[in-house]
Amino acid sequence: MSNLESLYQQVLAELGENVEREGLLDTPKRAAKAMQFLTSGYTTDLHEVVNNAVFTSDNDEMVVVQGIEFYSLCEHHMLPFIGRCHIGYLPSGKVLGLSKFARIVDMFGRRLQIQENMTKQIAEAVEEVTGCRGVGVIVEAQHMCMMMRGVQKQNSMMRTSVMKGDFRSNAATRDEFMRLIGL
Ligand SMILES: [Zn+2]
Repeated sequence: MSNLESLYQQVLAELGENVEREGLLDTPKRAAKAMQFLTSGYTTDLHEVVNNAVFTSDNDEMVVVQGIEFYSLCEHHMLPFIGRCHIGYLPSGKVLGLSKFARIVDMFGRRLQIQENMTKQIAEAVEEVTGCRGVGVIVEAQHMCMMMRGVQKQNSMMRTSVMKGDFRSNAATRDEFMRLIGL
């Protein structure tokens, strides 16, 4: 049994469970494996993720990738927060392969996070790998720590946004992005 597995077994025992009962025998192992997957973003390298999928392009118009779903864990409760991420950027000679946006979102989602920081990290990563003139990232999510416990509110949604470069300095660019994603 790995260290993480035995820690999960201790958690079960502390919760008053019988760790020997059939349904729980492999639970520490499964929980450890699941948690390692859900936090695999810590060991993901941005440049490996992008893997040279940055292509020369003379398109300098806004590119928007909308509705990238993600599953993260809040760092305060280690409970899921689940939502969608919208990314827009203004290329400056280079465009990024479409699937790489989803991989960047997963890289930062699969960690213990707060939504505000995740939004910023995604924006900075897109800026870093593309050298774009500007980037906007909007994340909308529901937080299980608010739904299942605490105030137990089921229908609130948190929206965070980070605007950099032209998206920050130019209201028309920001408005175009908002319009394209339907906000
Ligand atoms: Zn929380």
